[in-house]
Amino acid sequence: MTLLELEDVDAFYGESHILRDVTMSVEEGEVCSLLGRNGAGKTTTLRSVSGARPPAVRDGRIRFKGEDITAMDPEDISARGLSLVPEERRVFPNLTVAENLHLAEVSENRSNTVGRSLGQVQVEHVGMTTDEVYDEFERLRERKSQKAGTLSGGEQQMLAIARALKQNTDLLLLDEPYEGLAPQIIADVEDAIRRISESGTTILLVEQNAVAAMDIADRCYVIDQGSIVFEGTADALREDDETRDRYLGV
Ligand code: ATP
Repeated sequence: MTLLELEDVDAFYGESHILRDVTMSVEEGEVCSLLGRNGAGKTTTLRSVSGARPPAVRDGRIRFKGEDITAMDPEDISARGLSLVPEERRVFPNLTVAENLHLAEVSENRSNTVGRSLGQVQVEHVGMTTDEVYDEFERLRERKSQKAGTLSGGEQQMLAIARALKQNTDLLLLDEPYEGLAPQIIADVEDAIRRISESGTTILLVEQNAVAAMDIADRCYVIDQGSIVFEGTADALREDDETRDRYLGV
C-alpha cells in the first residue's frame, strides 16, 4: 500500500519557487531516502509533507493513507500518524532523558484528545511505551537520568527519534539523521533505524550523506534544484555513476 504520495507539488518561500512538480511516493514498510546536495529542497519537501509553514504549497497534492493532507495543520497531520524529526533534533537540553520521553507522551495525549473531540481522527496505532523505547535504545535506558544536553550527538539523535516513536507513528520522517556524527556513531544510528523499520514503522529519510543513505534504503529519490531527477532502488542508484556524480558528488 502507498502510505505517502506527493503529486506535482510546488512549494514557495514567499515568491521563491523551491519545489517544482515534485512527485514521489513512500510504500508501507519501506525505508525510502531522498538525497540531494545542500539547498536542493530536501528539508522543504519534509516540511511540506508535515504541514510546517513556511513553505507554502501552492500547487499539487499530498496524500497520507489516501487522505488529502495538503492544507492540513501540523497537529492534525501528526495525529494521523506522521512524525518529523527535524534536523536540529529538538530535545530539551535541561531535562533528563526520561523527562524528555515523558513529555512526548503528554503532548501525544493532548493531540489525540483534540483529534477525538473534533471527531476526525481514528488512532490506529498507539505509540511505544517507555519500556519499549528503552528496549530499542539500550543506551538511552543507561542514561535515563542524564540531562539531554550532555548526551553525545548520536545519543541526542536517538532520543529525538525515540520521542517521535512515543507518539502514534506510522511514517517517520528523518531530516539528516547522520549530520555531524562520527562514522562509528552513524553505524549505531543506522542500526536503530533498521530496528525501527523491522518493527513496522515506515521511514522517509533525507540525507546529504549519500553513501549512508543508500546503505539503509530500499528505494531512493534524488532531488536537484527542487526537482526529482532520479527514482529507483538503492542498487540502481549505486550502479548509476552519472546520477551519483552529477547530483550527489559521490
Ligand atoms: P540542506 O542539506 O542544506 O538542509 P536542503 O536540500 O534541505 O539542504 P532546503 O532547506 O529545502 O534544502 O532549501 C531549499 C532552498 O530553499 C534553498 O535555496 C534555501 O536557501 C531556500 N530556503 C530554505 N528555507 C527558506 C526560508 N525559510 N526562506 C527562504 N528560502 C528558504
